[in-house]
Amino acid sequence: MSGYWSPTVQRLTPYVPGEQRTGGNIVKLNTNENPYPPAPSVLAAIASVNGEQLRRYPAPESDALRSAIARHHKVSVEQVFVGNGSDEILALSFLAFFSGRDALQFPTPSYSFYPVYCGLYGIVSQPLVLDQNFNLDLARFAVSRSDSAGGIIFPNPNAPSGLAVSRADIATLLERHAGVVLVDEAYADFGAESAIPLVAEHPNLIISRTFSKGRSLAGMRLGYAVASEELMDGLRRVKNSFNSYPVDAVAEAAGIASLEDDHAYRGSLSRILSTRTAFTESLRKRGFEVLESAANFVFARPPSVAATALAQSLANAGVLVRHWQQPAIEQWLRISIGTDEDMQRLLTAVDTYLDDAAGATGD
Ligand code: PMP
Repeated sequence: MSGYWSPTVQRLTPYVPGEQRTGGNIVKLNTNENPYPPAPSVLAAIASVNGEQLRRYPAPESDALRSAIARHHKVSVEQVFVGNGSDEILALSFLAFFSGRDALQFPTPSYSFYPVYCGLYGIVSQPLVLDQNFNLDLARFAVSRSDSAGGIIFPNPNAPSGLAVSRADIATLLERHAGVVLVDEAYADFGAESAIPLVAEHPNLIISRTFSKGRSLAGMRLGYAVASEELMDGLRRVKNSFNSYPVDAVAEAAGIASLEDDHAYRGSLSRILSTRTAFTESLRKRGFEVLESAANFVFARPPSVAATALAQSLANAGVLVRHWQQPAIEQWLRISIGTDEDMQRLLTAVDTYLDDAAGATGD
């Protein structure tokens, strides 16, 4: 705490990302990164950015990248907005649509950045507590017919549960609620039905997406939103009051190349999905409870041992997974899907720990 900090900064509780430990023989399954690199064509596009492009500022509205995204999703370029990771899309959206309104509703447990943005902007939040199976029932959100009503935000699939809701249920919510609804589709590539087709009929719907997960570009920091022109104009007003050039020339080139090479992207997706199926099965065989994941991670509860102790033992063995010291989820681990070899290393470390624990209790 410092007297130099503004009162707002003194009050903040910042987000804590998963540990970015590097080097050595680490199996990193704690931040839902893609285990496969982007396509060679993406790396070539990055390398081809020249001095002339770097000497200049990038296009402030990233027109070429927005056009590529618009073509990909079959929406108009005016319905697309890009930013420095989808976290930035969220940060700008909270200010553009949720600040100065009635309480913002979001599920809990869910993405722990939402309450952090509420703290940053002084937004009152109204968490919707999930049932004990972590199901999100959209019908439980409080709804309003006023377009200036408090907003609603949820990830689909949700994190850390990995559970998805259907597009039909989102459509029903949009018919009942006229305030802004933000669907955070960071993990939608891995199984959820995208709500993007609903944008045409619902001017209050905004969808945020990322190149970090399915497209293997977490290090590039590239995210985007799809919504009505009305919402996009609001986002642009905030962006241009904060940073005119959030997406650099290299990131723009990488994003365009990624969208042009869907073959590589689909290849890594299908490998991740088959690893997820096999890994879920392997954990269940060992007595873990594993939720049905539509994401590139699974949420799992170990049998008869404390999740926190297991996470620590895995970390000691060089295998990083995510664990939260929060009552509703402290018995659970969120494990990113890596390569088959990564998952095997995790399972070996799990077996060692479970055997030792059984030995210690004389089972
Ligand atoms: N939403 C959710 C639910 C996430 O888990 C993440 C990744 N931590 C993000 C958004 C942000 O991802 P990025 O900024 O890399 O696009």
